Amino acid sequence: MVRRSPFREIVSNTAFEYYRTWLRECEAFHACVQRNNTPRLPTRVINVGSLNTNSVPKLHLSKKGEKGRYAALSYCWGRQQDFTTTVKTLHERIQGFGVDVLPKTISDAIIVAQRLDIQYLWVDSLCIIQDSAPDKIREISKMGDTYRKATVTIAAASARGVTEGFLFDRLPDDPSLPFYLSHSTSGTISFSTVANSDGRNDPLSTRGWAFQEFVLSPRVILFDKFQATWHCSENLCKEVVPSYLRYNVGPRLTYSYVKRNGQTASDADSWRSIIRDYASSDLTFFEDRLTAISGVVKDLAKVWRDDYLAGFWRNSLVHLLSWKRKTDKYINFQHLRSKGRIGSPSWSWKTAPFGIYLNPVDEPVIELIDCHVTLLSPFAPFGEVIEGVLTLRGKIFPIPDGTEVKGNGNNWVQYNLDYDSVKLDNSMRLLLLGDGSNGPLALIIRELENGRFERIGLYEQRYGISDNSTLENGSDQIIIME
Ligand SMILES: [Zn+2]
Repeated sequence: MVRRSPFREIVSNTAFEYYRTWLRECEAFHACVQRNNTPRLPTRVINVGSLNTNSVPKLHLSKKGEKGRYAALSYCWGRQQDFTTTVKTLHERIQGFGVDVLPKTISDAIIVAQRLDIQYLWVDSLCIIQDSAPDKIREISKMGDTYRKATVTIAAASARGVTEGFLFDRLPDDPSLPFYLSHSTSGTISFSTVANSDGRNDPLSTRGWAFQEFVLSPRVILFDKFQATWHCSENLCKEVVPSYLRYNVGPRLTYSYVKRNGQTASDADSWRSIIRDYASSDLTFFEDRLTAISGVVKDLAKVWRDDYLAGFWRNSLVHLLSWKRKTDKYINFQHLRSKGRIGSPSWSWKTAPFGIYLNPVDEPVIELIDCHVTLLSPFAPFGEVIEGVLTLRGKIFPIPDGTEVKGNGNNWVQYNLDYDSVKLDNSMRLLLLGDGSNGPLALIIRELENGRFERIGLYEQRYGISDNSTLENGSDQIIIME
């Protein structure tokens, strides 16, 4: 019997030999990024110096067109950071700074870059001038590219804030018992739960911006609370310490994935899984809800050649209007006072301050006539919208008397209202969307004073309901929703 270390060693020389090997293999043999193509450096990067010489890290201003391998850091700020680059400190940062003055998460990332032999590191707080509005606007608009082109992204998933750090061996929380072979020989036997975690409960995975940072990065080393894992398109998830942890990883949306599968994959399916995951993550500023995913959208727009409409795509919009509120995860956006819709349009998940479920409409009976969205800024075509007018042709039905289930067993109807403040009443209508996997789906809508409609929730009906007259008859109408 071999005694295994109780620690999951993720910072040992052996562990780093794995990271270096995986990176080398990916760079040499995988199609995860275009090969032999050293990326162009972001506007500013940290030159991490070297472990062997005593050179200190310093801020490097990239020359026009300068190329180099760089790592990017994905992390939680936590509270406001003290050590940043500002107009006043820019010159100081270029002179260099000791690793010891940095918050732990950033100094850990510098150590990872050094040990991976990557010369440069991009960290938002040091590479964007924090008190310059024009610099922030310019650099934030390039953030999608920064992660997309990075040699590797270091994800500090377990750290709640920048001061916490992530570079230490993990102690498994598995229970263990003494184990006796004879009077002279003893050992320890450990018990592991199989479905322990998929890492999604880590602080970083609840942060809205991190979703796009992960999805766009061609390669990620993710330091979660249990251990460290490697992610690229050809190695979806490799553990540095073999374990029984179950990692729930879907296909990555890297450049190569989109290029290989984007045109053939079902657009509705791909987009459904993206917004379902993304909409459950939190944002400090709710108005960033479309902006924080706009880098992903920009990539998809190139491949799908489709119009992007307030969090939907024209080709799949009628399939995906059937979102509903995730009631068990009303924890998102706790800092918001409003539990009602924020902004417009009502038919988009982007105005709903909670996570969503999405059971798509497989066979739509509704027709999209027109959809027009008004952008907040013409310079951000995939960013925030202030209004969206949707014109549909479909059948409208009255709300039937009594909203309780009729029938028995597996037969049911459900009225999922978007907001607690709104109660179902007879002024509302059902707009039939079509059949989902369980049965008919319809929007619960209400007429506004201007004759248009707003969304109130989602109606679901299970096949086989004994009284199935609710969604029969009715004639086609043109409905305008806002
Ligand atoms: Zn790869």
